[in-house]
Amino acid sequence: MRLSLDSKHTKIVATIGPASRQPETLRAMIRGGMNVARINFSHGDHQMHGETIDNIRRLAAEEGTTVGLLCDIQGPKIRIGELQEEPVMLEIGDSITLTLDDLVGKKEIVSLPHPEFLRDIEAGASLLLDDGNLQFSVLRTDGRNLDCKVVVGGPLKSRKGVSAPNARLTLSAITDKDSEDIEFALAKDCDYMAMSFVRSANDIHELKALMRKLGKQAAVIAKIEMGEALEKIEEIIAVCDGIMVARGDLGIETPAEEVPFHQKRIIKLCNEAAKPVITATQMLESMTDNPRPTRAEASDVYNAILDGTDAIMLSAESASGRYPVRAVEVMSEIASIAEQNLSDERAAQANNHFAGEATEDISDAISKATSEISQAIKPKAIVTTSMSGYTTRRVAKQRPSAPILCMTPITTTQRRMALVWGVTPLQIQEFATIDEMISIIVRTAHEKRLVDRGDRLVIIAGVPFGIDGQTNLIKIHTVGEEGEI
Ligand code: PEP
Repeated sequence: MRLSLDSKHTKIVATIGPASRQPETLRAMIRGGMNVARINFSHGDHQMHGETIDNIRRLAAEEGTTVGLLCDIQGPKIRIGELQEEPVMLEIGDSITLTLDDLVGKKEIVSLPHPEFLRDIEAGASLLLDDGNLQFSVLRTDGRNLDCKVVVGGPLKSRKGVSAPNARLTLSAITDKDSEDIEFALAKDCDYMAMSFVRSANDIHELKALMRKLGKQAAVIAKIEMGEALEKIEEIIAVCDGIMVARGDLGIETPAEEVPFHQKRIIKLCNEAAKPVITATQMLESMTDNPRPTRAEASDVYNAILDGTDAIMLSAESASGRYPVRAVEVMSEIASIAEQNLSDERAAQANNHFAGEATEDISDAISKATSEISQAIKPKAIVTTSMSGYTTRRVAKQRPSAPILCMTPITTTQRRMALVWGVTPLQIQEFATIDEMISIIVRTAHEKRLVDRGDRLVIIAGVPFGIDGQTNLIKIHTVGEEGEI
């Protein structure tokens, strides 16, 4: 596959599962536009995930492109135990007890093996089961047993999820299973660790402390799916490296009708903070079974891009659906159309919208100037030389119309930048002087056939090199003018 600068700006995160883990399917998904592969630790085992990760890395190298790896950790998901016969049919007004006792459940009593959860729930609480399909009201509790009345009935099956939308839960954010999965994911050099059911900045600190203890750090994506997280969204964005709007659980923990409002608000806050944001779940849901999306799904993907999302995500569509490759291709096509149709006027509006308040931060000022210069001189690419990706994210925040080439000597940074809007990451060797930098940048881009003699580049860098976030140089360079190629 030939790397190209004309490909879409919006990034595609695809969940890998039984429908997509075969190498030829993965290769087709990479060719179709998958930028980041998501491994969902709610399913599968380490051996299977290890093989999938190795295949993704090998195939990305063979295809000459960068694919980031996002390991999504299950978190404290509350589930009922096993049922004797299933489904159990529950009617409105039925009485049912959820108990800590280890028993095989039936219509009147079902086990709920989560002591901390039972301890936190008070009489009067509302419980949602099976993704909100059933609802119970808690009448009484003694800390071990919740006596409930069925408010919304229906069929209940073993191991279905339970949530308490308005309760203050004190559950640990990282379960024993999560710790094992995190250790495994770090050993496989994952680029992003997605943390489920984040409630506050403290949860992120806890994950970062655990990773420090394990001797490796991945970037942290906070999944926003709890009401509490919405209340503390600014503090969470400040400490994490990116956000996922996890609309599946968010639409259970808060009314589904409010999800679009939360999505738009979270995306705007992430854009202002220059942190990558992923819009996730049910984007092309009907493509799990059908080769074409519904009009509403096409609109959903398109509108998330207009909202300013960095990335759009496939879940069941690519993990277990019938058309994993087609789903990636459809997302790519919608993204390209949405981006083409973003007129210059819209780009100018977006500049104001995303740039936020005037800033004294030199990186921000240079990034803004870079975007404005690009608007005027229409370069082939903006080139950022970046150690941590800090400057690259700030340039992406301006949503420039020119593609952004992030040139970095750091492999981790290269792979993390695969998630950031408009960025094509490339690895380069280290350099010491400005002349050496220009020569390495141009030669690398030319070798990859991304630029040719006479093309203009807007290059930004920090001098002296190697210090994070110290961008202080803009060079407008015409390829070949200094005999670099
Ligand atoms: C979600 O709830 O939208 C989500 C992405 O999380 P998961 O798929 O892990 O439930």
